[in-house]
Amino acid sequence: MTTENSFARYIRQTIFPGIGLEGQKKLQAAKVVIVGCGATGTVIANHLARAGVGHLTIADRDFVELNNLQRQLLFDEQDLAENLPKAVAAERRLRAINSAIEVQGLVTDVNAENIEDLIEGATLVMDGTDNFETRYILNDACVKHSIPWIYTGAVATYGMSQTIIPGQTACFRCHFEDAPPPGVNATCDTAGVLGPLVSAVASISATEAIKLIVEQGELNRGMIYFDVWYNTFEQFESRGPREDCPACRQRNFEFLNQEKGGQSVNLCGRNAVQIRQTGGGRLPLEQLAGRLAGVSQISAQNDYLLRFSVDGCEITLFADGRAIIKGTEDESVARGLYAKYVGA
Ligand SMILES: [Zn+2]
Repeated sequence: MTTENSFARYIRQTIFPGIGLEGQKKLQAAKVVIVGCGATGTVIANHLARAGVGHLTIADRDFVELNNLQRQLLFDEQDLAENLPKAVAAERRLRAINSAIEVQGLVTDVNAENIEDLIEGATLVMDGTDNFETRYILNDACVKHSIPWIYTGAVATYGMSQTIIPGQTACFRCHFEDAPPPGVNATCDTAGVLGPLVSAVASISATEAIKLIVEQGELNRGMIYFDVWYNTFEQFESRGPREDCPACRQRNFEFLNQEKGGQSVNLCGRNAVQIRQTGGGRLPLEQLAGRLAGVSQISAQNDYLLRFSVDGCEITLFADGRAIIKGTEDESVARGLYAKYVGA
């Protein structure tokens, strides 16, 4: 695409003085990493691709499911029929939306071992996850490397957005020192979530991303909290970093250093557990399919994943060695099934 064409594409935002041609060039040069591409991640990725952010990396560990289509705006029934991982489906869709930018979808679990490589050289990191543990890892890594990141949360009808600029604003752990124990907070599964709420809060975060990249406008330096059902909108001023914050003040990165958190994760209210192996060997999916055909029914197989049902659980194996085991919330049951059918 010629430069002239590429600027014609963005004319509605470049005639806005807050962005202008200078801002557009900054967007084009920016490298944004989106961690998690579900409800909020798809909305953020969609906006940033359309706005012309030049380099987008989208990391997600999951595959597209029927109940995602209610709110995850980049996916459709075709992705479901093809059993596509979200990162692959998102990359395909975003390339179709804007062929002039670089988009890379990574089917991977973002964790303490790989996050620093993932965010290296990023202008900005966007939270598209649905869990506290990954957010703490993300916060540790971004604070450590002084990369801004934007938290987005959405449950039921309320949403939260926080822009975190290491060295300037409070970090995620300044506000939420420790993850709430399981069962204390409402999750999307127990409380549901409205599609328009997800779009609203993720759009606020995407706007923050654009302002931060073009270095114009007023950034949200505290916490934005609103409820679309009751029409309440609040912006809490930041009091700056908390004096005793383990992450941004003491620089004690407990989640990144794996003093907190684990290898298996109970997935947010989905009656499923994810198992991930350390060491990072790849799984020979085709060979495994051959072995498993005798003991179970293979329900999906492509270049990215292999799915089969056994002992009342549905197991999806990914080429990177992970498994999502549906039908149990017991991590030891899930680890047992993994060891039995895949090997420890
Ligand atoms: Zn902090």
